[in-house]
Amino acid sequence: MPDDMVEAHIRGVKNALAAGWRVLDRGGSALDAVEEAVVIMEDDETFDAGRGSFLNRDGKVQLDALIMEGATLRAGGVGCVEHLRNPVRAARKILSESPHVYFVGEGAEKFAAQHGVPLCRNEDLIIPREVERLRQYQAEAARRDAKPDGNHLFAPSADDATISHDTVGAVALDRNSNIAAATSTGGTLNKAPGRLGDSSLIGCGCYADNESAAASTTGWGEPIMKLVLAKWTTDRIAAGNLPEWAAQEAMNYLKQRVNGHGGIIVLNPEGHIGIAHNTPRMAWGYRTVRKEEAGVMREG
Ligand code: ASP
Repeated sequence: MPDDMVEAHIRGVKNALAAGWRVLDRGGSALDAVEEAVVIMEDDETFDAGRGSFLNRDGKVQLDALIMEGATLRAGGVGCVEHLRNPVRAARKILSESPHVYFVGEGAEKFAAQHGVPLCRNEDLIIPREVERLRQYQAEAARRDAKPDGNHLFAPSADDATISHDTVGAVALDRNSNIAAATSTGGTLNKAPGRLGDSSLIGCGCYADNESAAASTTGWGEPIMKLVLAKWTTDRIAAGNLPEWAAQEAMNYLKQRVNGHGGIIVLNPEGHIGIAHNTPRMAWGYRTVRKEEAGVMREG
């Protein structure tokens, strides 16, 4: 995350915290809180979610999202959708109103429309900043005759410090001791059309179980998927470890096992949190009855 984007990220995270908190403060559920928090970040062009997301190789926005409830293990996911401003709203409808867990592409959009989630044009999700970013990226790749695998975009040694990667996620705990998680993304820059990342896959980019913890991840999706990283982390917590430790261990595991780079937020039903990243920066924030904090660096 370049210096000149830090403030916008912190502002966006704080707005999301405020939206989630409003739900919890009036006695609402963790599930509603994570949905509202993620909607705020999908609507904020700072982030790689909803409008303003990275473009795929064909110059289109293609979005993935998942939401999961820890009490019931109900989950809803959408993948490769192109006509939804708020994919997390569609994911929530799937969780609440469908016997299925996951919809992709046109079927997901049809389900969303039938359940009251408005559709938009793909062009409505595209902003000039991203058109220019894709143009530059493709021109540079052609010049170098390189076939980048994606990891270099996330590595601390990334030579392009003008790119930030902003999948969004939220975890929440409500008054009834229920936890929930949600993750939403435009995926990776210049991805192949139809490529699905980790973010919307259960246990990879997102997981919630009241018997362990809620987790949301970000980073280069392919390595995260291979490790089923969100579930890996919550399993450590079920085994008796604290979220803070498990989050840090997840980042070590990601780096050591598959040379991956990313970040994670974790929360257990006792209210312990874990925030870790092995990228140079990751925007994060949390709010409790006692305290609110946000930043772009978290020391392990
Ligand atoms: N994990 C996302 C993906 O690979 C990207 C990100 O987190 O920035 O689709």
